[in-house]
Amino acid sequence: MARIVSLSRHHQEDHRHKNIGWLRASVLGANDGLLSTASLLTGVAAGRASHEQILLAGAAALVAGAFAMAAGEYVSVSSQADTQRADLEIERRELKKSPDKELLELRDIYMARGLDEALAQQVAAQLMQRDALAAHARDELGLTEMATARPGEAALASAASFVCGALFPVLIAAFVLHSEVLPALYTTTILLLVILGAVAAKAGGASMIKGALRVLFWGALSMVSTTLIGYLLGHAVI
Ligand SMILES: [Zn+2]
Repeated sequence: MARIVSLSRHHQEDHRHKNIGWLRASVLGANDGLLSTASLLTGVAAGRASHEQILLAGAAALVAGAFAMAAGEYVSVSSQADTQRADLEIERRELKKSPDKELLELRDIYMARGLDEALAQQVAAQLMQRDALAAHARDELGLTEMATARPGEAALASAASFVCGALFPVLIAAFVLHSEVLPALYTTTILLLVILGAVAAKAGGASMIKGALRVLFWGALSMVSTTLIGYLLGHAVI
């Protein structure tokens, strides 16, 4: 670990970006929960639903969204880990079956990256002596991390962040006066979206204003659209 840190400035920066990955993922999950639930509820509220119906829709949206996020994340992380494991297994077999061919393969990779033949041969041989599978995983397959994915944890984190976001519109549906629900949903959601957008941008090292404006645009578009549809259907059908 100490060696990685001392390598270079560039490398340290990459490291920092990796560590904020979880923050970005949770902010995005909360964003999803907040915007999808709030948009659904503005649509339902604009469609002349009763207080109870709005609350029911909100609770169902929260649970459905949390499971959809968990399932999506679980499947995605698991299949990624499966693919990695299968690739590594093929590589392990090849290394056992034809180590000479594998040495040449690695040498060619280093030559393609600019080393001359003698040096490439030397580098490939030394790296393979130390950990042949790791060398092939990294330089041939491009796997920088060995399959350490935990699909269960990822699914839980994804669902939890969605619920954190979805909770706000549901609480508004539960506790705000029926006549005030629509404006309360709009103002609270826009305010939280702007804060989340700024936080996500800051974590990613981007401009906070740009990040906030981006989510503001999509958030407003989403809520205005569902409000319009809810209003039209609510007044035409019911
Ligand atoms: Zn190989």
